[in-house]
Amino acid sequence: MTATVDDSLFASLDPVALKGSSCTACGATVFPALGSCPVCTGVDVEQVALPTEGTVWSWTTQNFEPKSPFRSDGFAPFSIGYVDLGPVIVEGWLVGRAEWSIGEPVRLVLTKAWTEGDTVVHTYAFEAAS
Ligand SMILES: [Zn+2]
Repeated sequence: MTATVDDSLFASLDPVALKGSSCTACGATVFPALGSCPVCTGVDVEQVALPTEGTVWSWTTQNFEPKSPFRSDGFAPFSIGYVDLGPVIVEGWLVGRAEWSIGEPVRLVLTKAWTEGDTVVHTYAFEAAS
């Protein structure tokens, strides 16, 4: 069985895309999606599927286990970064290796967050695109 940490984060799962919201008045795009615009307070926002490729804006290595609600099947240090998707910068795990470069291309993927019985709970992450 497959599940996600929060289905409301996703516009689709196959192919995976994140769901943001875009303000029709000022054009601001945010993630996760909101019911109103945090920039101009407008309420005319539409839900959008965010681009699935971007570049590393900044990153670091998380060397200690974050507090709840963070969960894992066993903590190991991991990379976390901000990825510039164009209309919005999104925070997420960087998976597949330990060292990253600012500006390098990455793509959105689903990755295991933890297991719950027979269910693998997935979250989004970014992997190297090249
Ligand atoms: Zn706005």
